[in-house]
Amino acid sequence: MSQVFVCGHKSPDTDSIAGALSYSYLKRQLGVDAVAIRPGEVNKESQYALDYFGLEAPKFVESVARKDENGEKQKLILVDHNESKQIIDGHEDADIIEIVDHHRLGDFECDNPIFILIRPLGCVNTVIYGLFKEHHIVPSKEIAGMMLSAIISDTVLFRSPTTTEEDKKAVKELADIAGVDYEKYGMDMLKAGADISDYPAEKLAHNDSKEFSSGGHIFTIGQISVMDVEPINLKKADILKELEKTKAEKNYVASYLMVTNILTEETFLWFTDGAESVAEKAFEKKSENAVIYLPKTMSRKKQVAPPLLRAYEN
Ligand code: MG
Ligand code: MG
Ligand code: MG
Repeated sequence: MSQVFVCGHKSPDTDSIAGALSYSYLKRQLGVDAVAIRPGEVNKESQYALDYFGLEAPKFVESVARKDENGEKQKLILVDHNESKQIIDGHEDADIIEIVDHHRLGDFECDNPIFILIRPLGCVNTVIYGLFKEHHIVPSKEIAGMMLSAIISDTVLFRSPTTTEEDKKAVKELADIAGVDYEKYGMDMLKAGADISDYPAEKLAHNDSKEFSSGGHIFTIGQISVMDVEPINLKKADILKELEKTKAEKNYVASYLMVTNILTEETFLWFTDGAESVAEKAFEKKSENAVIYLPKTMSRKKQVAPPLLRAYEN
């Protein structure tokens, strides 16, 4: 079989980077010529984890549209996403042969029956860890380290409401394999990721942005996780200007940005011009100074995307 790319979503987070590495590792153990790739830049948090465990980032690939010398399409496995808007460029011309995910099934369509595994867990690396166990394969120390980093990242060290018992159990077992104190390491990693003081506004605006489509509208929801919201608030005007710019360029109906304080577990939801009434309807509350305050909210997937998707449906 020709080479298979394993790829996470655009604007990759630690789960997408680690998922490409861990699932391609498992596939290689099973005899598949699998290679981890990424469709975007490595963020600070993921880089911290890669450096800590001494691994190279997945290879950057801009588009998977090309065919190989035999005219065969590129084989592709998706991890940590399935919505078409989040898949690497050129995927329409690739052959998607598997999906392993922990998000809602979006608009994905395929011509042939394929392997799809979506489980309602806090992190796709917990799903992948289950597959390691099923095959009686133990990840290497380095891969185990990346997998636990991903689970800590997606669940914000078990603070997110998406966290399940299986996520916690996986982190504990993976920490034994990797030989780390996951609580201390996890806090250090989250801190490294939340240190965005030197990021320019345009990078903050698109750092962790995802496209969604509902009722014929396309909108984005980004998220910035910090331990102090003040430095971000100082850049608010510039960040919103940047969001307005891409909104116009890409014809989005709106762009939202979750500014999440991971210590106090609250989110300040920003939005572009004209989105106020939809946002107020979605969250059933009034905005103040063009911000919707969402206490006890950390999860885009569980707490922010669903009400917005519903609001645009009608
Ligand atoms: Mg992700
Ligand atoms: Mg994930
Ligand atoms: Mg995330």
